[in-house]
Amino acid sequence: MCIFCDISSGKIVPADIVFENEHVIAFRDINPVAPSHVLVIPKKHIRSMHEIGGDEISLLGEMILAVQKVAEKEGILKSGYRIVTNVGADAGQTVDHLHWHVIGGRKLGWEF
Ligand code: AMP
Ligand code: ZN
Repeated sequence: MCIFCDISSGKIVPADIVFENEHVIAFRDINPVAPSHVLVIPKKHIRSMHEIGGDEISLLGEMILAVQKVAEKEGILKSGYRIVTNVGADAGQTVDHLHWHVIGGRKLGWEF
């Protein structure tokens, strides 16, 4: 279990939930880097994209559908948005529960 498991299981962790269904939950990042910054996660604890197993492929489809709903709700469908997922230390992964950052609402740069 981890902080994102606590959020997805409804424990008393404050979270601004944007979308939720049986498989996935989307909530606002506490440290947003853009006007719209939402995290989409599977409810199941999977450490990162690299840990997705063959029997979990359908979860990725659920996450894509959730991203689409988030983008519509956030009003960033027309203006555009970016999906980012960090895997491991060099990428900057700080929470070891698979999450996709959905970022939009401003023009995004591309710097590393
Ligand atoms: P990453 O660095 O890719 O692992 O992203 C982790 C993200 O989770 C960061 O952008 C944090 O700001 C965000 N974060 C950490 N704890 C929480 C929380 N309790 N609620 C919402 N976002 C969080
Ligand atoms: Zn977890």
